[in-house]
Amino acid sequence: MLIHKIEELRKQIKIWKKQGLTVGLVPTMGALHNGHLSLIKKSVEKCDKTVVSVFVNPIQFGPNEDLDKYPRTLDADRKLCEDAGVDIVFAPSPKEMYGEGHILSNDFLTYVVPPFFYVDKLCGKSRVGHFDGVCTVVNKLFNIVQPDFAFFGEKDRQQLIIIKKMIKDLNIPVEIIPCPIVREESGLALSSRNKYLTENGKIEALALNRILFNIKTCYNKGIKDVSALTETAYSFLNENHALEYLEFRDKDTLEEKKTADNNTIVFIAVKVENVRLIDNIEL
Ligand code: AMP
Repeated sequence: MLIHKIEELRKQIKIWKKQGLTVGLVPTMGALHNGHLSLIKKSVEKCDKTVVSVFVNPIQFGPNEDLDKYPRTLDADRKLCEDAGVDIVFAPSPKEMYGEGHILSNDFLTYVVPPFFYVDKLCGKSRVGHFDGVCTVVNKLFNIVQPDFAFFGEKDRQQLIIIKKMIKDLNIPVEIIPCPIVREESGLALSSRNKYLTENGKIEALALNRILFNIKTCYNKGIKDVSALTETAYSFLNENHALEYLEFRDKDTLEEKKTADNNTIVFIAVKVENVRLIDNIEL
């Protein structure tokens, strides 16, 4: 069932809750691929009812980002969801989510702002305000759907860590289920933004997972010093790559690591053909 209106969705959720059914939520921005599908499958398996939200959230895009050209494929998304056993696809308009005229500045809208320590680094550094937009929309979706479980991909690891922190700090009654990164056979992490890449760009994009898997191999061989682990990474990059960051951080607190251990995540962001790609690996 496709629902565009918050009130209509609420009515359905109320009925399920009365029946004592568990509800799973998979928040997405659409252009669904097998990465999203893995989250959806997990929810369908675990929960009595599954809601997939498809919403390209304007307030998490910066002024020079790809809000207008972000792929929108609602018909295909709906079909994929139906085939996977999803009960409701919730696809609200920006007006439905943010009101008449949808004034998106924080002069007029109540925002949920994650702690500065979690957003002044990695993606938050170049995407100022991005995680405010993410936390605000996820919080709204939690309030609308009141899910028992919500499914998030480890592909967006900083987002996952920030959302876990938000539900802890704000006592939101939902259990977050992290889901592993789904990759193409080549190793490239699936992303809706891969659609912007040419065939050659996709080959250049393999540098991200090569760097990460190489670091993991070296770590497994006993190298723990972060500068030693980073050294070889640069040999995978050429003039077609603009490295934004390659950082070793704690998997819960995002604190920087000088020495890698089993609580370390290696984060990478690289621009290829002006497309910003991110990936990460747990050591
Ligand atoms: P998005 O539509 O990009 O906002 O992603 C919606 C959800 O799908 C987020 O929780 C993402 O982390 C997750 N996701 C996107 N790509 C992948 C992937 N390749 N593997 C696992 N999860 C993913």
